[in-house]
Amino acid sequence: MNTPPIKRIAMVSVHGCPMVTPGMRFAGGMNVYLRDIAPAIAAAGVSVDVYTRSHKAGGPEVFEIGPNARVIHLSAGDPELVKSEVVPHLPEFRERMLEFVASEGLEYDLVHSHYWLSGSVAQSVAAEWGLPGVVSFHTLAAIKERESSETEPEQRKVAEEQMAHGADLVFAFTHDERRELNELFGIEDDRIHVAPGGVDLSLFRPTDKLQARERLGFNPTENIVLFVGRPEPFKGPDVLISALAHMRGKANTRLVLVGGSEGEHSFDWLRLLAVELGVADRVSWYTAVPQEQLVDFYAAADVTAVPSFHESFGLVALESMASGRPVVASNVGALSTQVLDGETGRLVAAHDPVDFAYSLDDLLGDPRLLGAMGEGAVAHARTFTWARAADQALEGYRRAAQGFAERAQVIG
Ligand code: UDP
Repeated sequence: MNTPPIKRIAMVSVHGCPMVTPGMRFAGGMNVYLRDIAPAIAAAGVSVDVYTRSHKAGGPEVFEIGPNARVIHLSAGDPELVKSEVVPHLPEFRERMLEFVASEGLEYDLVHSHYWLSGSVAQSVAAEWGLPGVVSFHTLAAIKERESSETEPEQRKVAEEQMAHGADLVFAFTHDERRELNELFGIEDDRIHVAPGGVDLSLFRPTDKLQARERLGFNPTENIVLFVGRPEPFKGPDVLISALAHMRGKANTRLVLVGGSEGEHSFDWLRLLAVELGVADRVSWYTAVPQEQLVDFYAAADVTAVPSFHESFGLVALESMASGRPVVASNVGALSTQVLDGETGRLVAAHDPVDFAYSLDDLLGDPRLLGAMGEGAVAHARTFTWARAADQALEGYRRAAQGFAERAQVIG
């Protein structure tokens, strides 16, 4: 059966704007993913519009993020609202989206929804336009709850299950996520499409360690362990501070944490822990920086640690590897396959600070091993181009459109 070609798609990402600096409280991998995948899909011949909630009053506003790739800010609720407060404004977002599309006379071939908050809007506009819909969860409430002591709103859990069953195809970043979707929601393999993300290889590439340290004002001889990301418990930064206290080589090791913002006091709970454990003078804190500046942090580090309780894709691990720096990561979620144990870094079984300390000491104590793993890391990360990620996403769109057309024929 011939399905019409896909020429233009709408992405709905109500709270994850591709233009926000990642690393702050609510911005991270999903924002980076959208920012980089949209132009890559457009470069492969399919125009992309990403609809997201405006972070300032007024709108709609349109921004080009590449040839045939746009971000459209729609106003729905106070721009300052936090993620959990957005729900009552979803119907308004949907109305603004329909108005914008009508005013520009746009026609799409598919709707791609990102994160649970976008699900109801995306499903409803896809139904209104008679289009196939695909879903990317980025994170799942059930996994967050299982892997940590956090509780997620019941509404989110219900919405995720409904979205998984209602979508024409569910996108997963890894085979591990596919298994989770299968086990959690009973979604069959043929309704899940595995399409990984990528890493910006022109930005993240091996550069000189000492020069980067000089630019950042870091000590040239200390061992540097880097943590990058939102400083929230799920990312496990406290595990690293405790690990530092257990390290044999702690007297010559510095833990550098990058992420969060001062206004949110995100680091306060970690600072207290560092003082309690007597390692405060071995830890340096930096609020989130744009990726162009992160480059120097990766380059200046000897190793990056990713002690997360779960990652569905784990961009930080990939960025570090692309920069030639091995990764010591928890053996969970996407990290279990992103990091090749013994080749591009080390996988640590649990979130036990002693295990992290052991692996970090082991690598930092062996510069030859560190160098070899750095080379292995670059080779591995280089396979994750955004062009490949876009091709795999496009293959998923074609699958979704085909399935949609077949079902329409059966019903018709
Ligand atoms: N990031 C950044 N500046 C920072 C901290 C983080 O640009 O100060 C970016 C980082 O480069 C990565 C993303 O935020 O691309 C975090 O993605 P990851 O998949 O590791 O975690 P998530 O935020 O999705 O949980």
